[in-house]
Amino acid sequence: MEIRDLYRDVILDHNRSPRNFGRLDPADAEAVGHNPLCGDSLSVTVRFEGDRLSELRFNGQGCAISVASASLMSEAVSGRPLGEVEALYREVHALLTEPAHVPGIPLGKLMALAGVREFPARVKCASLCWHTLHAALTRPAHPSAAPAVSTE
Ligand code: ZN
Repeated sequence: MEIRDLYRDVILDHNRSPRNFGRLDPADAEAVGHNPLCGDSLSVTVRFEGDRLSELRFNGQGCAISVASASLMSEAVSGRPLGEVEALYREVHALLTEPAHVPGIPLGKLMALAGVREFPARVKCASLCWHTLHAALTRPAHPSAAPAVSTE
């Protein structure tokens, strides 16, 4: 399937019916992210089981790309060891920013995000959820001190 078709189909599908939308309460870690360029605002809550990310929910408001990307991310990372989640974070960042990036690990439906490269102004919409997840994982949250990230 062409990236362009994959992009259109997957983004439309995940924007229409976002997976894992909501909040985990209690959560083991949490972060909020904002993309002031577009007005996207997301929160990510996660739970761990040993060294795995067992569950992820995201919440907030954003454009179709930011919501679809978060939905795709939630499916891709749930149940994965944290080391693999970190590897996916790096791969998706490269996929979004490097023209001809060849993924070092299978990305499945996340490959659809490569379509965002045709719309440079929207790259930050697609990467917002990943930066927010990264913040949650690198700084375990206490409810009063959820790390906030901005893509600006
Ligand atoms: Zn956006």
